[in-house]
Amino acid sequence: MPVLQKALLSASRRPGLRRVVTGTPVSRRVVDRFVAGETLPDALGAVRELAADGIAVTLDHLGEDVTDRAEATRSRDAYLAALDGLAPLGLGRAAEVSVKLSAFGQALPVGGDDVALALVRPVVEAATALGTTVTVDMEGSPTVDSTLAIVAELRREHPGTGAVLQAMLHRTEDDARTLAVPGSRVRLVKGAYQEPATVAHQDKAAVDAAYARCLETLVRGGGHPMAGTHDPAMIDRLLALVAETGRAADSYEFQLLYGIRPEEQVRLARAGHTVRAYVPYGADWYGYFMRRLAERPANLQFFLRSLATR
Ligand code: FAD
Repeated sequence: MPVLQKALLSASRRPGLRRVVTGTPVSRRVVDRFVAGETLPDALGAVRELAADGIAVTLDHLGEDVTDRAEATRSRDAYLAALDGLAPLGLGRAAEVSVKLSAFGQALPVGGDDVALALVRPVVEAATALGTTVTVDMEGSPTVDSTLAIVAELRREHPGTGAVLQAMLHRTEDDARTLAVPGSRVRLVKGAYQEPATVAHQDKAAVDAAYARCLETLVRGGGHPMAGTHDPAMIDRLLALVAETGRAADSYEFQLLYGIRPEEQVRLARAGHTVRAYVPYGADWYGYFMRRLAERPANLQFFLRSLATR
């Protein structure tokens, strides 16, 4: 992994730097490119615009790594409010939510897994009542077992609950085989966290090759694969696999992040594919924003130029 990328990813988890960056009057233009706004009405505005272009959404209330139960409870309440806000739009499965278990208390020193499960369950119940689903994002590698176990538990009553697998992790090819079963919704991503060589591929070519292999496993399996990527090569790979396997358009998804390759999102939707944009909103944008900077040096240059020309 390039040095700059490592530095940005390690900065994304440092509370001191978080205070510096979020305390600076950062050019809104830069953050606004990746984040739909700070409030739920902002996010619902973005949902309406995307829906008008035939693009489905998964809403993400920004927040992660909470350190107390009260904060975790506020995450639950924010998601319940988001689902209430989505209800009048009548979008059904075209508008779901994505949650990070670390925002629901997974990392609390005592009983974090139980706290996260207890707080996320009402969100999943509310989503089911609304006729939609929840996808559980994947965070750093130490949380993978706990996160997959919580998804499995939620799926007992709410089988539409989605999991996320990160192709960069060595274990993921096995996980993909396990999860490529009927009814299983799986978003495959490359992985946005800094991981050691003991658990993860370190160079881009190896990650890309692993992504292609896992994608094939998921598409040839019986589940509902969701390719979370902007990479033209991986998008072409999914197009080729669905053509070859004759999968119906509602049995797989392209998923891209809000603000990234928006013209590609529209192009794929117009071609009849299901496209879902991951739409983050909220005040706690720091970790999400730093990961987007780390993914692409051009984003960092844009950010630094905006600071300089403010
Ligand atoms: P890359 O090889 O990184 O990029 C390919 C091309 O895409 C680039 O050349 C560029 O044109 C474009 N691109 C990629 N990133 C950017 C960017 N930031 N800004 C502008 N252009 C860009 N990761 C997790 O670890 N856990 C998750 O739960 C998770 N959920 C995700 C959900 C969705 C819908 C998506 C799309 C990604 C998610 N990610 C998640 C992030 C993912 O792991 C990657 O870090 C990210 O998608 C970049 O990888 P890529 O597949 O787009 O390919």
